[in-house]
Amino acid sequence: MNPVYEAFAEVMQPGSDLSIGEWFNQYVKVVDSPHGANYDINQTPWFKEIAEAVADNSNDEIVVVAPLGSGKTAFFEALIHWIVAEEPGFTLVTMQTEQDAKDLWDTRLSKAMRLCQPINNLWPSDRNSIKKGTVIFPHMSLLMGGANLSHLQSKSCRWVIGDEVWLWKPGMMDEARGRTHDRWNARLLFTGQAGEEGTDWHKAFIDSSQGHFSWQCEECERFNKWEHANIRYEKIKDEEDQYDWEAIKASVYMECPDCEAKYKDTSETRRRLSNNSKYISDNKKALKGIKGFTYSDYSVWWKPWSKLVLRWIVANDELKRGYIEPIKKLKQKRLAEFWKDDFGDVKTKLIAADYAKTNYMNGELWDDERFRFITVDVQRDHYWIVGRAWKADGSSRILFEGKVLTEESIRDYQLRYKVQDKLCFLDAQFDTGRVYDYCVKYGWTALHGSGQDGFIHTKKRGARRIRVKKFFSKYELAQAPGGGTAPYIFWSNEKVKDALVILRSGQGMAWEVPQDASEDYVHQIDSEVKREVISKSTGQVHKRYVKIKKDNHLWDCEAMQVAAAMMVGALRSPEEEVK
Ligand SMILES: [Zn+2]
Repeated sequence: MNPVYEAFAEVMQPGSDLSIGEWFNQYVKVVDSPHGANYDINQTPWFKEIAEAVADNSNDEIVVVAPLGSGKTAFFEALIHWIVAEEPGFTLVTMQTEQDAKDLWDTRLSKAMRLCQPINNLWPSDRNSIKKGTVIFPHMSLLMGGANLSHLQSKSCRWVIGDEVWLWKPGMMDEARGRTHDRWNARLLFTGQAGEEGTDWHKAFIDSSQGHFSWQCEECERFNKWEHANIRYEKIKDEEDQYDWEAIKASVYMECPDCEAKYKDTSETRRRLSNNSKYISDNKKALKGIKGFTYSDYSVWWKPWSKLVLRWIVANDELKRGYIEPIKKLKQKRLAEFWKDDFGDVKTKLIAADYAKTNYMNGELWDDERFRFITVDVQRDHYWIVGRAWKADGSSRILFEGKVLTEESIRDYQLRYKVQDKLCFLDAQFDTGRVYDYCVKYGWTALHGSGQDGFIHTKKRGARRIRVKKFFSKYELAQAPGGGTAPYIFWSNEKVKDALVILRSGQGMAWEVPQDASEDYVHQIDSEVKREVISKSTGQVHKRYVKIKKDNHLWDCEAMQVAAAMMVGALRSPEEEVK
């Protein structure tokens, strides 16, 4: 459309006197609602201030870090109605994918907008003006698509709305900002779940006013963030030492950190506190037009706090056993917290537990021990070796470690410490043929560290066979050079080492090192850190474990111990279904 005409239309549009929230309530229909209900922003109190900020022409950029399932899509839809009717101008809406945009338009938005009275006279008469999420209205254009702005390089937008911005490639937010060409009344609205610290998405929120949705204590009138820290519960277990989930649920309440007033986990209480919440800014130095908003699932009144508490308990137990993903997802998708991947930067001093290697020299068992592995790093003319005992709950202690010169010595250790043949693991990366031959001879298992994040296993779930991804591969057989077949298993270098770092840094289950650990061990255990590296093939930035010391052998032995503990289930590997 002619930009002069478009500018003219913006000015000439007779706006209503209603506030944006009132306008939604009066004119926006909810599609598929059996009662022909209108959209009511009061159902989602956390959107009230956001809507006002979006409608305010003195703002430039609105950043909303939101949990999943908190009414965001409905808010988007209502907002697009309002833009078309009240504040028109070239509008670009980018969803996660092209398909998401198409689905939103086809199944909901186009239907709802047809029911919106103020838009009735604004539709284009030419059917060709409406296709694939693009509508050329007489007074403005609306473009909806996937997170790919390149085809719009030259278009000057009044409204740029981006969803799931945490997935955007570096530089895309700036590209989006460039689309408004500094028009006085232009607005950027960026939304999505929390992502990783240090990304453009994180920086956008940090630079904003950082409004945190906060509830007001009904006793002392102080405002508190809706955060996990204010939720209280008891981790009640039954006689069999299993969680009593019903009892835990019943113990959940929220407490004011100031006056210790207690709030029950009922829908009336949650709704009342959510209604009376407001955003409190954490960044008084933000530029005036840059507004940030975040709220957690705890404020979404139709979701019981106890549900989040149960997820929190499970995710933390998984973390203790080396599996990071559940707590990361919970924080990013439910608690709207950005994730800092700093497990690789271990600064914790190695603390020896109250025992010595000599306590186990004759193969003595550790209390409640369930598994015992030997892991071996293979060099040209010597070996590095770790023997570790594991309990079923993922706690473990070193039985022996150090350097040996021959494979016969490995065998001696194995027999003296009564380790099963197949639970003696040798790294096969360096001299694969030689290792395979030893595996045939002694019944040992070969290991291969891999750059892959996971390996497919098939599994029975109910009557179905499903495919799941784990941090280690299935048991495979390889032809050994000296004859016979050697068993080998791949393990994910990055994922297994993530788990090792959690144990090493004291955030996991007890992971014990003896008083008489060797100097080599103490030196080598902190020989790798996680750093950003640029992939030679793709140019993408990844975090990878890199050596910071020449010798990392005993660290590698400990990583193989973790891989072995995952194989027997003492530590956690995911079993998420893959299609
Ligand atoms: Zn209080």
